[in-house]
Amino acid sequence: SPNLLEVQGLKTYFPIKTGLLQRESGSVKAVDDLSFFVKKGETFGLVGESGCGKSTTGRSLLRLIEPTNGKVMFDGQDITSMSEKELRRIRKDMQIVFQDPFASLNPRHTVRKILEEPFIVHGIGSKEDRLDRVLKLMEHVGLNPSQLNRYPHQFSGGQRQRIVIARALALNPKLIVADEPVSALDVSIQSQILNLLKQLQRQFQLTFIFIAHDLSVVKHFCDRVAVMYLGRIVELAEKRELYSNPKHPYTQALLSAVPVPDPFVKSERIILEGDVPNPAKAPQGCAFHTRCPSASERCRTERPGLLQLSEQHQVACHLYS
Ligand code: SF4
Ligand code: MG
Repeated sequence: SPNLLEVQGLKTYFPIKTGLLQRESGSVKAVDDLSFFVKKGETFGLVGESGCGKSTTGRSLLRLIEPTNGKVMFDGQDITSMSEKELRRIRKDMQIVFQDPFASLNPRHTVRKILEEPFIVHGIGSKEDRLDRVLKLMEHVGLNPSQLNRYPHQFSGGQRQRIVIARALALNPKLIVADEPVSALDVSIQSQILNLLKQLQRQFQLTFIFIAHDLSVVKHFCDRVAVMYLGRIVELAEKRELYSNPKHPYTQALLSAVPVPDPFVKSERIILEGDVPNPAKAPQGCAFHTRCPSASERCRTERPGLLQLSEQHQVACHLYS
């Protein structure tokens, strides 16, 4: 299959517990019925405001969080029905890079120890062989091998993210979920890290799921983009199509916030009313209707399904049905 990942009806619900006895009084539908695929070697963007469920989606795909329902096929294997033991076997093929590199690195371990750990866990190589591998990893991500015995706090934010990326690469994965990997970094450093990821993708034939909170970062980075709102995909399209021909009012608003370099292109900023509603109290009908400039009566009661507009473009909005 040309698809590395096939996701069908993925749901991750969290129980809401209230009162002294912590009785279950409903659930937060953090991920609510997602279906999509990711092709081998592509970069698939997952975009939405905080609380839309994009991070939970990333973790659910790797079963770092147990999904409530649905099926995830990874490289032809159904990982949702695997036992923990079977899962451990393919864990090395799926890695995740988090937003805050400092929080994901043990402050008391040297770079050497941090990068050696995956090999030790998986029983790979002799001691010398592991050191060779660690030095090679440092080279791949542009770290100076002389920094081998330094601790995370002795590095800049960008360098720390390079350490995290090196660790993710250690076991030669097929898929990397990058959860806002540059959001915590200075703007000047962001493009360096993005360029590094691109270069590593070519070098090691990696497939990326790239999670971001706005559409500006993914613009140069992704092949296809899914826009999420309150646990659902509201639009999914090939990148160029999404940026030139956005259909969902939410995507249009997000895009209007992306700076346009061409001064002759007139772009008017669409300001959305209010904040993202509390996911525990998602609105009925189209979940976006409380903020949508085009909402009609139907939108308040009937939830729009994901429509196939063309082979490369899906949208969930009544304006197109
Ligand atoms: Fe707006 Fe209605 Fe479309 Fe939802 S279905 S995005 S409320 S027009
Ligand atoms: Mg997040």
